[in-house]
This record gives sequence, C-alpha cells and structure tokens, in this order.
Amino acid sequence: MVESLIFARRSLSEGGVDLTCGQKYSFKTYFRTSFFNFQTTPPPPRLRRVKNQQKLTDNYRHKGQRKRMVDALRRRGISDEAVLAAMAAVPRHFFLDRDFEDHAYEDKPFPIGCEQTISQPFTVAYQTVHLNIKNGDRVLEIGTGSGYQAAILAALGAKVFTVERQEVLYFNTKNLLDELGFKTVKCFFRDGSKGLAEKAPFDKIIVTAGAPVVPEPLKEQLAIGGILVIPVGESVQKMLKIKRISATEFQEERLDDFRFVPFLEGVSRK
Ligand code: SAH
Repeated sequence: MVESLIFARRSLSEGGVDLTCGQKYSFKTYFRTSFFNFQTTPPPPRLRRVKNQQKLTDNYRHKGQRKRMVDALRRRGISDEAVLAAMAAVPRHFFLDRDFEDHAYEDKPFPIGCEQTISQPFTVAYQTVHLNIKNGDRVLEIGTGSGYQAAILAALGAKVFTVERQEVLYFNTKNLLDELGFKTVKCFFRDGSKGLAEKAPFDKIIVTAGAPVVPEPLKEQLAIGGILVIPVGESVQKMLKIKRISATEFQEERLDDFRFVPFLEGVSRK
C-alpha cells in the first residue's frame, strides 16, 4: 500500500506579515504529516517573489473538491487505487495561480505562465497509471511545468528527476516543491530532448509535452524493463507506451489521443 502524503502547513506570522509562498518571510514553522509520522522540517531557503502565488492552505472545502475530482476520475475509468490516493492527497490548487483556486479541482488544464499549462487531472492520472510506479522507482519527467505531475509521482514513492526548458517555470516550481517539502523531487533547467544522461538509467520516463517524434536519448536512458510514456504527434498526439525489453528491443503500445503543449528544443530565459 502506497503511503499517502498529506501536507499540513501552519504559518505563524509576526507583525501581521502575510506568509504566502514566494514572499520574504520572517518566521515560519510548518509541519509535514503523513498517516504514520509527524515531524517538523526546517524552513526552506528564501524564495523568489512570485506574483499571485497561491496561499498554501488546504482546507475542508479543498479536500471536498478533491474528493469529488477523484470520484470524477473513477467515473472516467481510472481504477488504480494508488494513483487515486495520490491524487486525493496532493492539493492541486497549490500548483495554480491564485486566480484559478476555485477551479483547481475541475478536470481542466489551466495557464501556468510562459504560455504553458498544467495538465488536466485525467491526463495526469492516465499517464501515471500507465507508468505503473513502484516505491523507489527512479522517474524522469520531461516538462516540469507547475510541478503537479512530479508531486503525484513523488506521492507514489518515486524518486523524481524533472526537467524544464523555461527558466521562470523551473525556478518557481523548484521553490514551490522545496517549500512543500518534496525532498524526493530534483529539478533541472535544460532541454529535455537529450534526457538527463548523468542520472540514467530510469525505471520510468514521462513526457508531458507533445513531441513530434520520440527522442532517441530517452529510449537509451530507459532501464531494461523500464517504461516510457510519451504523447507523439503534431496538433493531436497519440499516447505511446514504450517498454524496453532488452538492450536493443522496445515494445510499443499505442494508447488514446490527447492534446498537449508542444515539446520544444533548446531552453528559454524569457
Ligand atoms: N507536467 C506539467 C505539465 C506542464 S506543460 C505539470 O504537471 O504542470 C509541459 C511543460 O513541458 C511546459 O512547462 C514546457 O515548457 C515543457 N517543455 C516543453 N518542451 C520541453 C523540453 N524539450 N525540455 C523540457 N521541458 C519542456
């Protein structure tokens, strides 16, 4: 049974300072709890200020909305209980601009800046189910974006290496994941079309942008027995599940059609 993660954060403000993520803070305590343990963690390093950053509070309203989101995923055919538990545990509204808080648990993508979007919950669940994450799996994600998909993988016990080509998204999401205490997620700023050779091989690789072709380095960096889940195509993408059978053999399964933001080469510092 996968350990579900629940993050309860209590910010103590002094002198009326509003302690939202991304603001300079004077004093802070937050608690990370799970079903089985309760521990305090030291405050993370000072964060870059982020406009309209979400307040990191998870109240009963959010929890109720999350439960309804999970019920809707079940109705759409997601039946993997570990994946559903992870999606019930991770607050999606933490990963969105504050303006979208009321809609965070709808099955929709939303803008996250740099013309990119957070994937819709069904797509996150779908790709995660096909990865068949086991506790301790080393997982490479190409396309960090908001960090939500990485958080779901971490909640399932994966060691996540996530790569982003947009510098602003890389910084903001790295800070957010640190703030939330996701110690098993490591963020990298680079072009993911070359993978992450120094951390290979990976048990699982997930690409969260629509690629014109399957980048060869990703196949090479897959462990034998490993799985790559990648949407491939121009305007509409076919989700491919590629299993590495041996050093030279790969088995490809063609799944459903999706629409992703494009997989682009090179990095962007805009
Ligand atoms: N997994 C993300 C989805 C973000 S959208 C989430 O949960 O929010 C896809 C992301 O892929 C975008 O942030 C985009 O900048 C990034 N991307 C596209 N091409 C890339 C590449 N070659 N290398 C790394 N990241 C890439």
